[in-house]
Amino acid sequence: MDSAPTLDAIRTATIEAHRAFQDLREGQNASYIPVLARVKPERFGLVVMTPDGQLAEAGDTRSEFAVESISKVFTLARVLDELGARTLRQKVGDNPTGESFSSVHALVVHDGRPLNPFVNAGAIATVSLVPAASAAERWEKIHATMSAFAGRPLPVMEEVYRSEAATNQHNRALAWLLDSAHTLYSDPMEATDVYTRQCSVGITTHDLAVMGATLAAGGINPLTRQRAVKAAHVPRILAEMTMNGLYDNTGTWQYEVGLPAKSGVGGGLLAVVPGRLAIAAFSPPLDRFGNSVRAQHAIRRLSDELGLNLFATASH
Ligand code: GLN
Repeated sequence: MDSAPTLDAIRTATIEAHRAFQDLREGQNASYIPVLARVKPERFGLVVMTPDGQLAEAGDTRSEFAVESISKVFTLARVLDELGARTLRQKVGDNPTGESFSSVHALVVHDGRPLNPFVNAGAIATVSLVPAASAAERWEKIHATMSAFAGRPLPVMEEVYRSEAATNQHNRALAWLLDSAHTLYSDPMEATDVYTRQCSVGITTHDLAVMGATLAAGGINPLTRQRAVKAAHVPRILAEMTMNGLYDNTGTWQYEVGLPAKSGVGGGLLAVVPGRLAIAAFSPPLDRFGNSVRAQHAIRRLSDELGLNLFATASH
C-alpha cells in the first residue's frame, strides 16, 4: 500500500501546480453571461483541504466568483436528503446525456427526461423538486444547504444575478420543455429564477475547498463540524460528479485524471478524493466545453504528483 501524501508534500505540490499554469493564456471567459465576460482572466486560485480542515493554498483564493454550475451539486444534496435517492433517479436521472450542458436536443430525444442533475434541464428540474410552499422557501432551503457546505452564509452576487436573469431565455425555454413533458415539479419561471439565483452565489476558492472537503469527509463540514448532507448520499453525489461533472468532456477527464469533479462557467472546478482531500481551483478562461483551462491543468498536475487517481492501484 502507498502512504497518503504528507501536508508538506501537498503544500509544495499546490504552490508548484499554481506556478506552472499561472502564465498559461488559453481559453476564454464565458461570454453568454455578460458580467462573467468581464472578470479578470488572470485570476487563478488553488486550494487543497483535508477532511480535518488542513489547508494548502496558492494564488487568488479569498476573493469571490460566481459558483454557477457547481451549485447543482448542493441542490442535488438537498433533494437527496429531503426526497431520497429513488425519487431523484426516477424524476431526474443518473446518466450522461453526451451533449452540451444546455442541450435542447438531449431533452427532446429522451422524451423530456433530463437524464442527470448537472445539465441545465436536470438542474432546473432538481430545483423544482425541493419541497417548498413558495419560491422564497425553495430558495432559502437551497441557500441554507450551500452555506452549510461552505461553513458561512454565502452572498448572492446581485450583478451576476441581474446579468443572468436578463439573458437566461434559453434556460427558460428548457423549463417550458420540461413542463410540457411533465418532468418539472413547480412553476417553470419560478424554478428557472431560483436556479439562476443559485448560480449567482459568490464563493471563494477557499469556500469551494471547504465544500469539497465536506464531501470528502462523508458530509461533515471540517470547519463547523456540522453535517451538511446524509452520509449515505455522498457516494451518489460523487457518482453523479464522476459521470457528469465536466459536461460532455467528463469521459476525457476521467480517462486522464480519475476523480469526481464539478465545474462551473464562472471558472470554478472542484475535485474530491473520498476520505482524503478536496482540490478547488478557480480561473475564468474556459475551454469549448465550458470548463476552466487552468483549473483542469492544476488539478490534473496535483493528482499526478500526489497519486490521487481513484482508478489507479498504487501511486507512481
Ligand atoms: N448559470 C449558467 C447557465 O445556466 C450555469 C451553467 C454552467 O456553469 N455550466 O447557463
